[in-house]
Formats: sequence, structure tokens, C-alpha cells
Amino acid sequence: ELHNTLVELRGNIRVHCRVRPVLPFDHIRSSTSGSGPASSEEVVYAISDDTVMVNGLKTGMPMQDKMFEFERVHGPADSQDAVFEEVKPLLTSLLDGYNVCIMAYGQTGSGKTHTMMGSQPLHDHSRTQQEAQKGIIPKAAAELFRLISEKPAESHTVEVSVMEVYNNEVFDLLARDEQGNAAGQRRDVITTSSGAIQVTSLTYVPVCSASEVMQVISSVLKLRARCPTLVHTDSSRSHLIVTLTISSKSPNALALARRLQSAKKDMQRSNQKEWWSPRCRRANPAARHSSDELFASSASSPCPSPSYSPCPSPRNSITQAPFKTKLQLVDLAGSECVGMSGVSGAALWELSCINRSLSALSDVLGALAEQRPHVPYRNSKLTHLLQDSIGGDAKLLVMLCVSPTQRFITESLQSLGLGTRAR
Ligand code: ADP
Ligand code: MG
Repeated sequence: ELHNTLVELRGNIRVHCRVRPVLPFDHIRSSTSGSGPASSEEVVYAISDDTVMVNGLKTGMPMQDKMFEFERVHGPADSQDAVFEEVKPLLTSLLDGYNVCIMAYGQTGSGKTHTMMGSQPLHDHSRTQQEAQKGIIPKAAAELFRLISEKPAESHTVEVSVMEVYNNEVFDLLARDEQGNAAGQRRDVITTSSGAIQVTSLTYVPVCSASEVMQVISSVLKLRARCPTLVHTDSSRSHLIVTLTISSKSPNALALARRLQSAKKDMQRSNQKEWWSPRCRRANPAARHSSDELFASSASSPCPSPSYSPCPSPRNSITQAPFKTKLQLVDLAGSECVGMSGVSGAALWELSCINRSLSALSDVLGALAEQRPHVPYRNSKLTHLLQDSIGGDAKLLVMLCVSPTQRFITESLQSLGLGTRAR
């Protein structure tokens, strides 16, 4: 049973890859690029809708052609709309009660922000062109509110929060100081007794439309641009996390049942001391029952032995509070392996933090994919923060962003490797 569950969990991670076009800036030789001839030659190709090929000869490295398969591959010609089409079903899952996380991974300049937010439309663009340039975040917000509009009026409410993870610290970018001025404030990440992940005192702004969501986000981004010292310095150095929290007054029974099961499974897996013994499980063969039976059986058969006394009961918090699901949209820090030589002090700390949180993420994805019993979420604030949106029964989409040119081949191979490891 546990095996099936884990296989199921594994099925909850999807990896898509987007290879961006060669762009004018690829032809400008960077003086800081590493060894070897900087080259704007195209070496990474989307050869079908699920395969990326790296041309070995053109890499300038002693390697054969390499193929990488993903659930979906987008090439340079693919539009923002085409990319979003493949993301859309996740919004339906969100309203079905799943937590969903969509994260863009890749080196600086590979197209993460373009994919997640979209590119700034030039002012002379027509409305339709502006619409077409929008990335996953505005499109997901629009789709979410469209789906909600089909539900009974006032059955769902949405709140947005915006966080940044920088130097292994979490900052609330919507926080205000006593004077009411914007001031990114440090926050803690905790795991509640029901197993949910919570950021303490996080600011939630209620929103009623996609454009309100975007107004909130763009106010933050403007602030970041205007006061770079406020929280962080450079978007390539920090992870930006936009969270939409959906509260539902009348969740469907199926969603409740799944959430209950998932919370149990997650605790079972993450607890070093097993609280859910075979005896306990025999007394409570939960899985194949309707939600009502499930609640009844978990209520009538508490764990039999006092040694199971911490046996967590997620039941109350799930049935009494409004049912909440989260959509986490993450623009990760650049995944480039920045040379450590010549860097010391605070700068070194910062670099090691970026690398550490991304390698912690890679470890978590690897552990989930390999069905290891222990998933090391707590090794970084980033993975701890995202735990209930990437593990359990949550649905995770990793959008690998890849530059096509020879200059970034090391970084591209690293990204493609991470994506392959996560599958
Ligand atoms: P990152 O956020 O990964 O550092 P960006 O999203 O800022 O990278 O992309 C770098 C530049 O490349 C931006 O000017 C962006 O508009 C452009 N770009 C990225 N992906 C594409 C794409 N698929 N099509 C056209 N331009 C793109
Ligand atoms: Mg960016």
C-alpha cells in the first residue's frame, strides 16, 4: 500500500523544459565568461515535444550528442500561450483541493522571469500582443478567477502573498513598518500540528481579480527596483515566491478525504519514530473508503497504545477551518555555478546560500523521485517553505529554462541533469 502511495506521489512531479531562442544579447561577448571561446552558437535543441538534444560536437567538450526527455518540451518558437496551455490543468487541480507549485529553474538569462511573469511589453504593443507576452503568473491568476466564477458566488476567496528567500532567510515583501512604509520583513517558517507549512505573520492581501493580483505583485517589483537595499540586491540572487491561497467554504468530500490521507502519509514518512504502526493501520484500513467512513473510522479507532499518543489528528483542523489550498509560483535564483575564487566575506556567504538552497531543492526532488522514505525538506528555508506544495499529494511542475547557446552549455547541462533526476 505504501509502495503504491509513493508511486502515486512520484507521479505528482512533472518536469517541462523550455529552450529559449538565441537573442541579440547572446552575440555580445561577455568579458566575465569562463574559459573557452564564448560562443553564440546554438547547441541545445528542442527536437520534439518531449525531447531536448545537446549537440555534443558543438559544445566544444569531449561529449557525444545527448538526449533528455521530459513530460513536455517547448522550443524557441513556442509562445507564452503554448507554454501556459500545458500548465492550465494544474489550476483545475488547485480547485479540486490539491496544493500546486510551479517553479522556474535555470541559470540567469535562461528565461525564468520571462516564463513566470512575462516580458515587459513595449508601450506601443497592442493589447493582444501585451496579453500574449504575459507569463504563467498572470495567466494562472486569470484562469483561477475564471474557474472560481463558475462556482457558486462567494464560495471561494483568494489572498496573495509575496515572499523572497535570500541568504536562507524568508522575507515578507508585502509587510509594512509602523509608519506604513513598505519594508520587507524577516519571517519564520513553521510546521503546524496538522502538518501544514506556515510562514508566521505573513501578509496576505485579499484579491478579487487577476489584475488585482498583478497590481500587488508589480507594486512589490517596483519597490525592489527602486530600493535595492531594502531586502536584496539582485533578482538572480534570490528566490521570489508568489503564493495564492484559496479558501473554500464548501470543499468537496473527495478533497477532504485526500487531504486527510495525505497529511497522515506525510507525517508517517517524515516522522523518525513511526506513529502509524502496522497494528494501527490494520485497525484502520482507511484508503478505500468514502470520506465519511474515513472520518468515522479514524475517530472511532484512535491509535491503540499510549506510545502512539502524539498520534496527530489532522481531522479537526481540516473539517472545521475553511479548506485552504495554495498555489505557489516560484522564480528561483539563477542556478549558475558562480566561481568561488576571489570571493570572500558576505559575498561568499551569499553565494554559498544560493548554491545551498538550490542543492537542497535538488536533494528533495531526487528523494521524492527515488521514493526515499526520508525527504530532507528541512535542509533549507526554501524547501521547508515549499514542503506542502511539493511533497504529499501536492502537484509540482518544474519548468526548466535553458539557454540554447554554447556559452552556457555547462549551466544548461546542469539544469537538464537536475530535471532528469527529478523525474
Ligand atoms: P532569467 O529570469 O532566467 O534571468 P529572463 O526571463 O530575464 O531570464 O530572460 C532574459 C532575457 O531573454 C529577457 O530579456 C527576456 O525577455 C528574454 N527571453 C527569455 N526567454 C525568452 C523567450 N522564450 N522568447 C523571447 N525572449 C525571451
Ligand atoms: Mg529573472
